[in-house]
Amino acid sequence: MVTPMQSRYRFDPQRHRAELVPLLAALAEAPTLAGSRRDRLLARWPKAGKGFFSKSELLAGLRWLRRTEPAALAGVDLARLERRLRGKPVRTLSGVAVVTVFTRPHPCPGRCVFCPNDVRMPKSYLADEPGCQRALTHRFDPYEQTWSRLRALTANGHTIDKVELLVLGGTWSSYPAAYQARFLARCFAAMNDFGAAPAEMRLRVRGPGSEVGEDGEVRPDGSSGGNSDGNSNASLASNPSLASNPSLASNPSLASNPSLASNPGLDGRELRRGADAAGRSYNSLVGAGGDGGDAGNGAGDREEAALHRLQAANEGAGARCVGLVLETRPDRVNAGEVLRLRRLGATKVQLGVQSLSDAVLAANRRGHGVAATRRSFRLLRAAGFKIQAHWMPNLLGSDPGADIADFRRLFADPDFRPDELKVYPCSLVDNAELMRFWEAGEWRPYDDGELLEVVVAALAATPPWCRLSRVIRDIPGTDIVAGSRVTNLRQVAEAEMARRGLAPRDVRAREVRGDDLDPARLRLEEEVYATSVGEERFVQLLTPEGRLAGFLRLSLPDPAAALAGSADEIRRELAGRAVIREVHVYGRVAALDGAGRPGGRAQHRGLGRRLVDHAAGVARGAGHAGLAVISAVGTRRYYRRLGYTDGTLYQHLSW
Ligand code: SF4
Repeated sequence: MVTPMQSRYRFDPQRHRAELVPLLAALAEAPTLAGSRRDRLLARWPKAGKGFFSKSELLAGLRWLRRTEPAALAGVDLARLERRLRGKPVRTLSGVAVVTVFTRPHPCPGRCVFCPNDVRMPKSYLADEPGCQRALTHRFDPYEQTWSRLRALTANGHTIDKVELLVLGGTWSSYPAAYQARFLARCFAAMNDFGAAPAEMRLRVRGPGSEVGEDGEVRPDGSSGGNSDGNSNASLASNPSLASNPSLASNPSLASNPSLASNPGLDGRELRRGADAAGRSYNSLVGAGGDGGDAGNGAGDREEAALHRLQAANEGAGARCVGLVLETRPDRVNAGEVLRLRRLGATKVQLGVQSLSDAVLAANRRGHGVAATRRSFRLLRAAGFKIQAHWMPNLLGSDPGADIADFRRLFADPDFRPDELKVYPCSLVDNAELMRFWEAGEWRPYDDGELLEVVVAALAATPPWCRLSRVIRDIPGTDIVAGSRVTNLRQVAEAEMARRGLAPRDVRAREVRGDDLDPARLRLEEEVYATSVGEERFVQLLTPEGRLAGFLRLSLPDPAAALAGSADEIRRELAGRAVIREVHVYGRVAALDGAGRPGGRAQHRGLGRRLVDHAAGVARGAGHAGLAVISAVGTRRYYRRLGYTDGTLYQHLSW
């Protein structure tokens, strides 16, 4: 059944037939579909009198007409029009397609007053946030979510050969270990299947692995029986523990919970209206659930083995995972958890820092203090993870001046210094505990001027080696009771900085993005800074104009102290070694043809190699016994080609 909310997001070509027929005919006749010409046509037949049709909507309209009413576009070469609309596959600006998936609703150990309580979603997310709707539509089935996102990217003309898998939802570390491994296995099965699927299969709404029935069998389907190179869901089908869990696709505790079923405030609004006085909370409504925080060495072993088989198949898949991002709380990070994150294949951890003030953390019932944040940074960094911190201004008990000082501490103190940062100013949503404080006059959102001051100060204080990925969370305006609704806050802040003669220096501000590059003119520079585990080198390739064409994060840990408190397995592999934590190359490289003219295929490999070779030289010169890289599944072959050998958790170069 399609819910009213789902129907808002589902494109129905039939409703737009009157615009689509003349628009598609005009697009077919146009001599070129280059930018302004195409835009003029889109503006002439707008969607429902307002916005432009997207490429995927045009393609959906074309397919619908071909199926239901072929005469409507009589005389049009439909196959040619489809090719034209699809265009040439393009890379995303970073060369990596981001696939975001959500875990099912599950109790979170946090009690943070600002956190939304939408019981349809994993903690902290709202059902109508971007991306959440897809998760809900697919009942949080990881296979379907992954397939659907790959399908959408492909339909919009993006290449999907390199995928960063971003898993969102509450606190990852609080989900049962078996669920975690199964969830990721289903994502990898979808990437493997999608990469191996013929073009027409890729356009199917559901992939072959969606056919796993209640009985755990993969339903007979010509495409789901596996293939010779192993990039199929055959391993899924043959893995009883993985396939036999129909609850993976839907949350049983949620569906079977009568109090939830009869709850008129399905999005959790009742929770703050006193319903929790009757013992109800987000956690009790979505189910007590097992807390698998440290249970990785037992319950999930079989599932983890299945995950590793699917990951091995992914090394050569058409959609390779070149980054796996998981999100958790600082107080859930300990030696065992860091080891488990790595065993699952994670390369980056999103960490909810929120504030570096114990008083503010306590006022917001965060449940941990700054000491836990310090420890988590240290353990994750020692293990080579990239760290993306989340930081929140305007929390209960703070003020703009205190927030600016708090932000500066993030970078002044070597114990923190995140690689990436998301700034999420606190917004009030109706189902959050913070409503009570707002109603009592104990909290108010900053006005636009105050918020702008904080964001300008944050941008100005972010060092060149950190990427400030977001400065406001994309919460739909309709969900915000009080708080900023300015969605282009970074743009506004950058304009204000320019007015004051300032400019941001963070990674995002300097990326070359899609510009063509001449590799011969790039210069290599290093930014050196101290961290809680030793010295960090941010090795960057810069254009003559100072734009960032690529970078590498090299950790030179203090051999005596860096791994103190880490798991034995990590100590064994990293002792005495420097660690490559990230390699990233941007933009298209304008290759020279045989005659020295610009043209030819984009070449990224040369830049990555240059950075990696430089890192090896630095590590050797600094007296390290070798170099380790926290490679993702999809980059293992690349490092093997460079002479790296496989360890259990990392790849290694020795000298
Ligand atoms: S830890 Fe995160 S998800 Fe859990 S309540 Fe706090 S903010 Fe929400």
